[in-house]
Amino acid sequence: SKVPSVILNNGVEMPQLGFGVWQVPDDEAAKAVATALEAGYRSIDTAAIYENERGTGEAVAASGIPREELFVTTKLWNSEQGYDSTLRAFDASLERLGLDHVDLYLIHWPVPAKDAYVDTYRALEKIHAEGRARAIGVSNFLPEHLERLTAETGVVPAVNQIELHPQLAQAESRALHARLGIATEAWSPLGQGRGLLDVPALVAVARKHGRTPAQAVLRWHLQLGNVVIPKSVTPSRIQENIDVFDFELDPEDMAAIAALDEGGRLGPNPAEFN
Ligand code: NAD
Repeated sequence: SKVPSVILNNGVEMPQLGFGVWQVPDDEAAKAVATALEAGYRSIDTAAIYENERGTGEAVAASGIPREELFVTTKLWNSEQGYDSTLRAFDASLERLGLDHVDLYLIHWPVPAKDAYVDTYRALEKIHAEGRARAIGVSNFLPEHLERLTAETGVVPAVNQIELHPQLAQAESRALHARLGIATEAWSPLGQGRGLLDVPALVAVARKHGRTPAQAVLRWHLQLGNVVIPKSVTPSRIQENIDVFDFELDPEDMAAIAALDEGGRLGPNPAEFN
């Protein structure tokens, strides 16, 4: 496919651009995912809490695309953290997806108040050892959580999926990931389509290349090395968001977009979220 891969720290290849399905109802997920697969997406990002693993799995099955060409990610919800509960939750996710393995299984949030992410990660290691997840990782982990996890388990997650867009560029996390060998995956890569896509400096970069602001933002991510999972249910936008591999931002465009960083989160603070 036209989407390049990143090589995770266990050698597994992950498409650098995938399709996110947060807030897509289960009965609409099959249609949205089918549209994405037709447009050329091969990576799908779902989660147990999105309650659309069934619809996602239906689209995967109906696509006829060989399983080994697809990359399916799902995530363990906070309430299921703990060793045994994680193993049970993973079985339930696989069942809903209709798959015998996923490509990536993530701990959705660290939930430090529960103090269970190390035990939870040990369950992910078992799932990985059994070949039921080709890679395992985390989401929304702050540097302090990553440091503790790697110190206590000796295993470096393949991926940390974090909120990341031009207005929250996450320099500290990206630098730590680079040092540890963790792939940075950006959630809400378009800033949820609010505000960001109308910022004049971004609109100007997009116009310079004859592209849309969403495409310029996705290029910024890709050129930084981030994995991105933009979400849309609109077929024209689903197509637009993958048509980003035939142009390149110049260094001054990258700098103009980097200047938008204000460090504000759209989502919760991982130190506090339960
Ligand atoms: P996003 O940044 O992908 O923005 C999606 C929204 O932007 C759409 O609903 C639409 O309103 C708009 N949009 C999309 N394409 C557009 C285009 N080409 N032009 C104009 N507007 C466009 O936000 P998201 O859905 O929050 O994040 C993407 C994915 O990241 C999710 O679907 C989910 O898979 C994942 N995610 C993970 C977490 C986590 O905690 N791990 C949290 C949030 C999201």
